[in-house]
This record gives sequence, structure tokens and C-alpha cells, in this order.
Amino acid sequence: MALYSEAARCEPCSHQALLDEDIARRLVRAAAGCLSARRCPHYDDGWHVRAPEPATDSDDE
Ligand SMILES: [Zn+2]
Repeated sequence: MALYSEAARCEPCSHQALLDEDIARRLVRAAAGCLSARRCPHYDDGWHVRAPEPATDSDDE
């Protein structure tokens, strides 16, 4: 199983780790709410995990 540090990088998403859905969900669970998972808009099978941003953040949504 690929670990986060070994995951492929997603260039369109600022080189975030490109993860399987299963791995992304495990990381979110392990982080106990400190991370959230979202599907990559560029790769159908790719997921990213990230720390939730403050409400003032204007991101790439
Ligand atoms: Zn991406």
C-alpha cells in the first residue's frame, strides 16, 4: 500500500499527494477531524487530504 509520503503528486493541485479514496479516508480517520478529504477535480480516481482552512480563505473551489 502506498503511503502518503510515497504517493504520486498532483501537479494541477499544487503538487498535493494524489491518493486512493481508501487511503484518503483512512488518513482522515487517523487525523480525528484535523484533515478533510476531497475528490481531485483533475483525476477521477484521485483524492486529496488537507487541513480545513479558516472561513476567510478563498480557495480553488
Ligand atoms: Zn488533484
